[in-house]
Amino acid sequence: MNINLDEIFDMTSFNVDREPHIILDSDICQKCDNRACVVGCPARCYSWDEETQKMTFVHDGCLECGTCYVVCRKDAFTRWRYPRGGFGVSYRMT
Ligand code: SF4
Ligand code: SF4
Repeated sequence: MNINLDEIFDMTSFNVDREPHIILDSDICQKCDNRACVVGCPARCYSWDEETQKMTFVHDGCLECGTCYVVCRKDAFTRWRYPRGGFGVSYRMT
């Protein structure tokens, strides 16, 4: 089955926890040599600004797939866990 990103978001809803479940040390990202999170995150939560040399991370649309945790070689997270109970993504299986 082929499915694109827009279709994934059509099948999801979020109850965003204002207390982020992932916290990034963006200073570490400045020294990263591949920034695999930017291409690896299916929800595009990571964006690297080449001009300012800054990483921005937004947890709101996180699909809780774990990709960023797996691909980061620099252990850049000061917190990486799943959202608290009742928060985060819900998948509609239709
Ligand atoms: S892969 Fe890790 S260190 Fe590199 S930019 Fe992403 S989160 Fe930062
Ligand atoms: S867990 Fe998945 S969706 Fe969430 S920020 Fe990491 S790569 Fe993106």
